[in-house]
Amino acid sequence: MKKIQMVDLQGQYETIKDQINNSLQQIMETSAFINGPEVHQFQKELEDYLQVKHVIPCANGTDALQIAMMGLGLQPGDEVITADFTFAATVEVIALLQLTPVLVDVEAETFNIDPEAVKRAITPRTRAIVPVHLFGQTANMDAIMEIAKEHNLYVIEDNAQAIGANFHSANGKTLKTGVIGDIASTSFFPSKNLGCFGDGGAIFTNDDDLAHMIRGIVNHGMYERYHHDVVGVNSRLDSFQAAVLRAKLPHLDNYNSSRQASAAKYDAAFKGQEHIITPHLAGKPDTHVFHQYTLKITNGKRDALVKHLNEKGIPCGVYYPIPLHSQKAYASSRYNEADFPVTNQLIKEVISLPMHTELSDDQIDHISQTLIEFVNN
Ligand SMILES: *Cc1c(COP(=O)(O)O)cnc(C)c1O
Repeated sequence: MKKIQMVDLQGQYETIKDQINNSLQQIMETSAFINGPEVHQFQKELEDYLQVKHVIPCANGTDALQIAMMGLGLQPGDEVITADFTFAATVEVIALLQLTPVLVDVEAETFNIDPEAVKRAITPRTRAIVPVHLFGQTANMDAIMEIAKEHNLYVIEDNAQAIGANFHSANGKTLKTGVIGDIASTSFFPSKNLGCFGDGGAIFTNDDDLAHMIRGIVNHGMYERYHHDVVGVNSRLDSFQAAVLRAKLPHLDNYNSSRQASAAKYDAAFKGQEHIITPHLAGKPDTHVFHQYTLKITNGKRDALVKHLNEKGIPCGVYYPIPLHSQKAYASSRYNEADFPVTNQLIKEVISLPMHTELSDDQIDHISQTLIEFVNN
């Protein structure tokens, strides 16, 4: 059996090696390192894939979130509601812009932001909601969009973990995640479902004015060369990364299908296990692209299990071990422990197993049998 990896980037590269090598070689020969044709073409191809009017590439997923918030013109003191159980980047940029982060609890089954908790957190200063499609599963966007409409709030989707997932709205429309709210961000960090060979990110929107605003913000606030109309940043996707992403984008649906197939095999292996709760699928199978395959271990053995798997050479991860509201940087007197029963429980129970496009049946078998044996003993 091949050595088990949390994410097998090498194995995936082997499958598209010639194409990537040729593209990178060509960029070196033309020296179009920044804003070269590869970047523009990738942007168009991603717009087609997502069926969105505007993709604006940028340097990473954290920048993408920050720039989205800058583009919406959010002002210091504006309250932005997001999930307590997510990667810190989401709350970090809210704080950096001197907006007020308002963390709320998530749903126990999907780990995604709880619309009821969002409702309770709304005040006259609330301006935006940031749902995160966590671990690759579409958040409850019908409910979020309804709340946003009722209270006149922006919706900024953090789509870093769910590129390619679908959303089937109550009115019968099917959209890609990231094209549902006012604006969205994504990350092309190597381990994400669509990953490049370094850092990369993008912003998506169907709003022409907002897209125009953002194209200036990513480029030092310039709309005309050396005229700086707004305070911007320097955030670019380079041509090498765009070339890698262009090679991978045509395979994204296959990559996501192979993640879904691996998830189904894990599910089958853990079926009937009393202390092992497999990921809950809230909608159709295409609403979860399994950036992570995350179990809940309910008999208190999670930490010991992590240690055991590591000893057995099986990588695993705890995403996330500390709720954001308990992090030093983001603690606030506005929070009450009683408002976070789900996150406070999840941090003790969750464990993410190896998940990537190159997992073999014997690896999945070995991982699940090792896990079951330990949890039941
Ligand atoms: C990875 C990630 C980000 C940040 O993306 P970077 O490209 O690493 O800056 C933001 N939000 C979530 C939910 C992520 O998983």
